Amino acid sequence: MALIKTEKEIQLLREGGKRHAFILSEVSKAVRPGMSTLEIDEMVYRLITEHGDKPSFLGYTPEGADRPFPASTCVSVNEDIIHGIPNEEPRILKEGDIVSIDIGLIHKGMFTDSAVTVAVGKIDDASQTLLRATKEALDAGIKAAKGGNHIGDIGYAVEKVAKKYHFSLAEDLAGHGVGNKVHEDPFVPNYGDRGDGPLLKPGMVLAIEPMLNQGTGKIVLKKDGYTYRTADMKRSAHFEHTVLITEGDPVILTS
Ligand code: MG
Ligand code: MG
Repeated sequence: MALIKTEKEIQLLREGGKRHAFILSEVSKAVRPGMSTLEIDEMVYRLITEHGDKPSFLGYTPEGADRPFPASTCVSVNEDIIHGIPNEEPRILKEGDIVSIDIGLIHKGMFTDSAVTVAVGKIDDASQTLLRATKEALDAGIKAAKGGNHIGDIGYAVEKVAKKYHFSLAEDLAGHGVGNKVHEDPFVPNYGDRGDGPLLKPGMVLAIEPMLNQGTGKIVLKKDGYTYRTADMKRSAHFEHTVLITEGDPVILTS
């Protein structure tokens, strides 16, 4: 799969990214205590499909999985890090929870990927700091994603923010290329050294997605085969954008 997108593909990703951002913002605003993870998934499915687009996660089988993902949205509450299944054993959100909402959208054949973690009602200070730090780590990673830099520069920038706040990065989980498929090369780790790894070239499209944990970075795959949770049951947050690499500053497509 070509790593460099054509002008036509980039145009479609820009339009899909705008739609993606709107949906994520609408769903985030709707989150409140008493809502179920199933309701979030239904809302996402409706907003994606009513304008003719498709949810890319529904029916997708990632490498290593033994069945397709059964929902449109990954909804991960508190200690769940990513890939939470909202429609098999729906969780009712409680005041003080945090919930990560991760959406994949296909607009005219082109794929965008973006996630946010949202407070359910009023959350404690430690959770507020976790959300702020994870968002800041994403911003730092994006800022480092300039043409001419390397993949390692992104991870270096993400890791620096995590360390500043004394949070861990969820081990083994990383960002990735995106655009023509749900997951493409290259692998975009949330750690690294400056100047290491593949060169960032204009026209590449990456999903940058730090996942910060309050406690250990160790992760556990739950029995459903999809949901990753923290090994110590402490909370985790996740923010993600689809980003276009250019000669200068990167363009956030999902904003
Ligand atoms: Mg995602
Ligand atoms: Mg992703």
